[in-house]
Amino acid sequence: MKATPGAGNQPSAFMHEEQAPSDWRTALRNAGLRATKQRLAVLEAIGRQPHGTVEEILDEVRSDLPTITIQSVYVVISSLVSAALVRKLELPGSPARYELEGHDNHHHAVCRYCGRIEDIACVTGKAPCLHPEAHPGMTIEIAEVVYSAVCHECALVRQEEGAHH
Ligand SMILES: [Zn+2]
Ligand SMILES: [Zn+2]
Ligand SMILES: [Zn+2]
Repeated sequence: MKATPGAGNQPSAFMHEEQAPSDWRTALRNAGLRATKQRLAVLEAIGRQPHGTVEEILDEVRSDLPTITIQSVYVVISSLVSAALVRKLELPGSPARYELEGHDNHHHAVCRYCGRIEDIACVTGKAPCLHPEAHPGMTIEIAEVVYSAVCHECALVRQEEGAHH
């Protein structure tokens, strides 16, 4: 049997964002960061599991780097956020979560029962999404948009519970 390195068509869980794993070295270098194995592993972990907390990213990274500590993951993530390779999400009632920065200004719908998070395309395309009529003394940069939602599973459960009273 012959291995076919670089066969371009096997499905890859971390190809769904624009960056392919092999491009991360270039992306890191362009951002002025060294392409360390920790940074590469964190980028790939976030690509595989978007919207993860630091703990969830740690679990994911440990499949590549079993001995990495949570402190290292914090340090790596903050360097990637500063370099605009990773986007930090501060959703209400949730610890910080992270995803690959796609520069698409997308928003999030959060199920208020189970916390499930889905991406929602931005209606205006770029920040700020809302343009107030008056903004004395301020240049508006960002309107934080988070959709409070009920996911289909939770809606079904609640419907069933409602039917049994
Ligand atoms: Zn739900
Ligand atoms: Zn997202
Ligand atoms: Zn928007």
